[in-house]
Amino acid sequence: MARRKLVAGNWKMHGLGGDLAELSVIAEGARDNDRVDVALCLPATLIERAARSVPDFPIGGQDVHGAEKGAHTGDISAAMLADAGAKLTIVGHSERRADHGETDAAVRAKAEAAITGGLMAIVCCGESDEVREQGKAVEVVSAQLDASLPEATAFSGGVAEWLAVAYEPIWAIGTGKVPSIVDIAEMHAALRSRLLAAYGEAGNAVRILYGGSVKASNAVEILGIEDVDGALVGGASLKSADFLPIVSAAAER
Ligand code: PEP
Repeated sequence: MARRKLVAGNWKMHGLGGDLAELSVIAEGARDNDRVDVALCLPATLIERAARSVPDFPIGGQDVHGAEKGAHTGDISAAMLADAGAKLTIVGHSERRADHGETDAAVRAKAEAAITGGLMAIVCCGESDEVREQGKAVEVVSAQLDASLPEATAFSGGVAEWLAVAYEPIWAIGTGKVPSIVDIAEMHAALRSRLLAAYGEAGNAVRILYGGSVKASNAVEILGIEDVDGALVGGASLKSADFLPIVSAAAER
């Protein structure tokens, strides 16, 4: 099935007001590549300013709380993100799972809260190098996704409109290491089968992004793999000169 590619950047804990000029260049470049969906997930402090400065470009958060509101000091609800102008959010990034002890159940609650609050959720999953070396990557990541995906009842509209999955091997994030083409293809095929199991035929339209050291030099090859429907890009999303060639690579595929 042909799916429109999505290239989402994750600025992590980078970016001050002065970096919004770079964001404008990225938004401009994205406009020139209208065959691809492009988005940037920014630090919460930049979302409102970014959404105002590039109103036609999708801005996202990097996390959301699983509850609608309440006594959760320092956390941000889906309604708050949407109110600031966000259209999407990452949930379950491995850095949050590691730094904040986020469990699969918490990630599922966050994804459901995002969708209910009108945000597309990018649900992340991925294995450690230890699990990969034990030959258990597909088994472990499939189970992680099963337990992290929102329940089918959380969707009022089409599933693919509100959900994307990102396969991000932890050992590939920010390291310059990338799994083999065969390993990426095997994992994405396995995750597709989990989406079909969760949502029936609607799971076929959900985009599965690859993330982990994607850059201009490997993007064409990675984005050409079956069932790789885009990329979640960390370090290379900070500068337009690094990010836009990845967007162009997605447009070629
Ligand atoms: C990420 O953090 O989601 C990521 C993929 O990072 P990088 O591209 O820097 O490996």
